[in-house]
Amino acid sequence: HEDESIEETGFLEVRSIVQRFNEILGRMQTLEDSRQEFVSNVSHELKTPMTSMKVLADSLIQQGDQVPAELYREFMQDIVAEIDRENVIISDLLSLVKLDKKAAQLQITTVSINELLEIIMKRLKPLALQRNIELIFESFRPVTAEIDEVKLSLGLTNLIENGIKYNKDDGWIRVTLNADHKYFYVKVADSGVGIPEDCQDQVFDRFYRVDKARSRDTGGTGLGLAITKSVVSLHNGEIKLYSKVGEGTTFTLRVPLKYKG
Ligand code: ADP
Repeated sequence: HEDESIEETGFLEVRSIVQRFNEILGRMQTLEDSRQEFVSNVSHELKTPMTSMKVLADSLIQQGDQVPAELYREFMQDIVAEIDRENVIISDLLSLVKLDKKAAQLQITTVSINELLEIIMKRLKPLALQRNIELIFESFRPVTAEIDEVKLSLGLTNLIENGIKYNKDDGWIRVTLNADHKYFYVKVADSGVGIPEDCQDQVFDRFYRVDKARSRDTGGTGLGLAITKSVVSLHNGEIKLYSKVGEGTTFTLRVPLKYKG
């Protein structure tokens, strides 16, 4: 009897090892699939401005000396705009890649989150003013936390900038800061177009855009929220969103006050 039970235990062990192995293989395949999808998305995104530039330049070459000065200038401006866009995509990509390098060597210092948010909002004010959007900051208490100032600032900037980009003229954005003994909380609420429920999970994916045309018009790359999510998780924090189409969107962030590796 003893022999049988040893045999049975061995069999079960082998089976569970095989199961684990299959699980790991499955996970590796998923990783490989998402890596391939990322590379194909990157190529596509980088190719789009390149194709426009080529068409514009080709058409100038074909028309030779016949091109009226006005048209020539217009085409050149379009080419420069495409180069600018290419640069935005590349710099967003570089940010993402740097964040991806696990634990991304965070430069942790103790920072006043109130001041950090005030600086970000001051920087974004001219953008908001262009469309008469009101930027409101509400803080329930002074908060200092151990964070990577540059990276968190990038993540928060993306959220507030989105609040402006996807808002309506004369709208508002309300940034609220609060804390308890363990975490600080930042809420970024806007009076914008909102995000349909079936897209809400995907907006954090790389290159995902609800409305491609609108996002492109506003200079969007579809990488902003992926960067923000990455920054927040490097700080062991959490990000969530609540949104209703036509009413607005609220992002909430929860980040530990003390950084623990
Ligand atoms: P993008 O560079 O296109 O802004 P993001 O990753 O920042 O990319 O956002 C992904 C998509 O989520 C956007 O294209 C937009 O459709 C949607 N989105 C993000 N923030 C908001 C917001 N505050 N209000 C409405 N839609 C938003």
